[in-house]
Amino acid sequence: MTTKTQKAEGYGFAAPRGRVYDSVVNLVGGTPLVALPHLMQDDSLKARLLLKLEFFNPLGSVKDRIGAAMVLDAERRGLITPGRTLLVEPTSGNTGISLAFVAAARGYRLIVTMPEGASIERRRMLRLMDAQVELTPARLGMAGAIARANEILNETPDAWMPDQFDNPANPAVHAATTAEEIWQDTAGNVDVVVAGVGTGGTATGIATALKARRKGLEVFGVEPAESAILNGDEPGPHGIQGIGPGFCPATLDTEQLDGILTVSEREAIAASRRCARLEGIPIGISSGAALHAGLRLAVEERYKGKTIVVIAPSFAERYLSTSLFTGL
Ligand code: PMP
Repeated sequence: MTTKTQKAEGYGFAAPRGRVYDSVVNLVGGTPLVALPHLMQDDSLKARLLLKLEFFNPLGSVKDRIGAAMVLDAERRGLITPGRTLLVEPTSGNTGISLAFVAAARGYRLIVTMPEGASIERRRMLRLMDAQVELTPARLGMAGAIARANEILNETPDAWMPDQFDNPANPAVHAATTAEEIWQDTAGNVDVVVAGVGTGGTATGIATALKARRKGLEVFGVEPAESAILNGDEPGPHGIQGIGPGFCPATLDTEQLDGILTVSEREAIAASRRCARLEGIPIGISSGAALHAGLRLAVEERYKGKTIVVIAPSFAERYLSTSLFTGL
């Protein structure tokens, strides 16, 4: 049998006890899977619902996996050199924070470009880890941040863009580690996985790895109801940070998925608050969206006695200034 340690070896990600870690980068992964007994009882769930807590990663989100994987993969392929290459990425989200800790730990300079108006907490975290933050006009949105990052890339001799929406190391690390952990922790007894779709790396990587191992296993993506482009709607503004980028990324393979469920911001926040209140697990907004979708499946007759794993990408505290906390 392949063990988690063997599979995750190429990345050096977190393995069982009895080890002193060489670097914080090696602390990525190995996140726990936890049962939700109170939600199960409250909603009379027919399926067993488990939550994978990705905020157990060192910088607190699922993006630590790709922050580490994209950089380590580029090093292995000789594309970047510590102390020399400048990393540049347009991102207003968790990816910036994840790249910042890897850049600091491995000795790279990092410039993150983002639209003005991105939350002050994120900008300060980036500055704390010595990343340079370049703000682009709010009216240009993410397109402005992408254009500026490309400009820096073109005018700097040894610069490299991880490009999370187009980098195969993104789905690959989820196939090698996230999926592997789910498989090991459930001893192969997993029937359904639910994951929010931002880059689509999490859902695609998990689907690729687990469907090959278990016939009939289903993987569902989740997108915001306010911007349900994968279900044929128009892109629109929404408050579920991290998912629903408004386009179909190269890192998402919809062929691998059994469906894309839609969840509104209101439903996502309600689920995330219930999880905090009933289970003592304060999760982020996109986690609430995935949980809401998982709860919806878990009451269906066809999933009676099955195991549904829901991915929780981040922790509630990263959203202190958002509607997750309004009125509390
Ligand atoms: N939720 C949050 C909070 C995220 O930061 C991300 C990553 N953008 C996701 C969900 C979606 O993950 P992925 O990019 O792998 O689809």
